[in-house]
Amino acid sequence: MNGQSALDRFLRTDPRDVGCEEAMELLHVYVELAATDAAAASRYPGIAAHLRACGPCAEDFEGLLAAIAPPAT
Ligand SMILES: [Zn+2]
Repeated sequence: MNGQSALDRFLRTDPRDVGCEEAMELLHVYVELAATDAAAASRYPGIAAHLRACGPCAEDFEGLLAAIAPPAT
């Protein structure tokens, strides 16, 4: 149950993952880059890895991205 998914998360942790603190520090930079540059994830692989691994940070990122780049309708 919970132990299993915690183990899953642990096994999936990307060694490039920079962690919450650094991701939050650079998120405003990363989100602007991500909005304009498809290569953002390869420029900041540590942040991209963190956003894949960390739900709360990914939500913050999605929120910021939506705010600066509203989806075209
Ligand atoms: Zn995080």
